[in-house]
Amino acid sequence: MDALTSLVVQRTRLTSMSGAASIWRKMSKEPELNSLPSQAYSGSLVERAATYRSDEATLTTLAQDARAGVYVIGDDVVVLKAQGVELDPLFSPAEARALGAARETVFLGLSDGAPRFGAGLDPAAVELLKARGDLKLIDLRTIAVQGAVTTEHVPPLAEAKAVLGWHARHRFCPNCAAATRVTQGGWRRDCPNCKAEHFPRTDPVVIMLPIAGERCVLGRSPRFPQTMWSCLAGFAEPGESIEEAVRREVAEEVGLICARVKYFASQPWPFPSSLMIGCHAEAVTENIVIDRSEIEEARWFDREELSLMLTRKHPERLTTPPSIAIAHHIIRDFVDHGADVLVQ
Ligand SMILES: [Zn+2]
Repeated sequence: MDALTSLVVQRTRLTSMSGAASIWRKMSKEPELNSLPSQAYSGSLVERAATYRSDEATLTTLAQDARAGVYVIGDDVVVLKAQGVELDPLFSPAEARALGAARETVFLGLSDGAPRFGAGLDPAAVELLKARGDLKLIDLRTIAVQGAVTTEHVPPLAEAKAVLGWHARHRFCPNCAAATRVTQGGWRRDCPNCKAEHFPRTDPVVIMLPIAGERCVLGRSPRFPQTMWSCLAGFAEPGESIEEAVRREVAEEVGLICARVKYFASQPWPFPSSLMIGCHAEAVTENIVIDRSEIEEARWFDREELSLMLTRKHPERLTTPPSIAIAHHIIRDFVDHGADVLVQ
């Protein structure tokens, strides 16, 4: 993986994860160290109600429910109703159908009893919507960063985008190449030829902060904004534990050897279907050797400098990723607790 390109990610404290529904608040645009903004994409208020996926009759009834709402995804963009300054991502089933033919519709679950679906539009239909003044088409990163919609909508939008994106890339059986059919409310594709069953996949990515005492290592991707530094990251490979993936990626990207690896938190990252697994790692060597094919720059930062970056007070205007990003919180946890993050 291009190591630092997908690090504008988010997280919540581990302690908040079991009570995710209660931690959603409006995200802070001015990060302060004494607040704890929530990460985007997780903490969904939509209960997945997976038992309904195999119940065609119930799914049909739910789709006709007066409270049913549909999130409409067009490849990399979300279709939003533009009502003055307000942007609303939830369409009635009839409104969604009027936007164009859906390639797939997925049952996302129930929001306080109200059915929620995701609909993936054909790219040609998406093109036609771009000229409409009553709609806005915005990518999901921008929606999260700008707080463009009410925060409760962001996790189901991520759920819809990830699973619909999987459908778009898995129309044919990888076993025998026959066209597959959508089943289970959009949560499986079956092959009519070889009878294989295919499930939406999630790709694990480790994202980590190597730490030595009061210092840690951040890196920069060429694609980052000029002043932004972030955690290192990379895909976990087949046959690898999280800890092994962390140690390998750190060694490959910056040439450091790590010993202890401590899990911090995770975050769904639907670009297209990753799960970011945030960790702190104990670096036991100091000499950085950068893999320029992966990252542009990497260096050691002390906690004081990191604090200035987190609060946007750094004299050279260096920054960390925004507070919606898990990288921000991995870094912040180190600023708050120092090397204790390795033993907590
Ligand atoms: Zn097949």
